[in-house]
Amino acid sequence: MTPFSVENPMVLPSHGLDPCEPEVLGKCSGCGRDIVDYEEALEYEGDVLLHDDPECLAEYMRQHSVKVG
Ligand SMILES: [Zn+2]
Repeated sequence: MTPFSVENPMVLPSHGLDPCEPEVLGKCSGCGRDIVDYEEALEYEGDVLLHDDPECLAEYMRQHSVKVG
């Protein structure tokens, strides 16, 4: 029997800032925020960048659509 257990917790160093900055690909036409390289993004009609996110796509469609009824 072990008289005591030695605990060896994994202490991860907490860094506030990521040393490698993400590359900004462009601005999302839906939410208006930057699209960075690790995010899923769509290019629409050659010059429109959007996050591959239903919220952003819907927002873009609303901005470029006319409400009827
Ligand atoms: Zn977006």
